[in-house]
Amino acid sequence: MLLKTHVIFGVAVGFLAMRLGAPPAASLAAAAVLSALINPAMDYLGHESGRRVPRTHEPMHAAALGAAVGAAAGLALGLHAAYCALAGAAVSLSHLLLDAFTEHGIYVRRGGRYRRFALAHLRYNDPAANGLAAAISLLVLAAGLL
Ligand SMILES: [Zn+2]
Repeated sequence: MLLKTHVIFGVAVGFLAMRLGAPPAASLAAAAVLSALINPAMDYLGHESGRRVPRTHEPMHAAALGAAVGAAAGLALGLHAAYCALAGAAVSLSHLLLDAFTEHGIYVRRGGRYRRFALAHLRYNDPAANGLAAAISLLVLAAGLL
């Protein structure tokens, strides 16, 4: 998906995770910071020659990166580091969920090898898919804040 779609979807997912341990405004602020940090990092570190690689586009690697960034951001912002680590992992896994709907998919480790996995084969910039993911994100945020 487009980076902006990953970021807004990550804000919604991170918001839900942060709400387990923080009030709505702090959850939204933390989720916005986490999503803005984690999603670009996943795509910057997770591509070689324009292709996705398992470094960040594999669930365990993504969760580890998201949790590490989340814990660091939580400590830097003075928020509960454990909840921020959980939210960071949720944000990074939300990135993989969206990428699993695109034509190159994500990687899963099976039988000691990385194999591609995809739920659908949409183009990463498919307008309908990006619009739907953004709309769901906004509905989740509206429902959580109202
Ligand atoms: Zn990606």
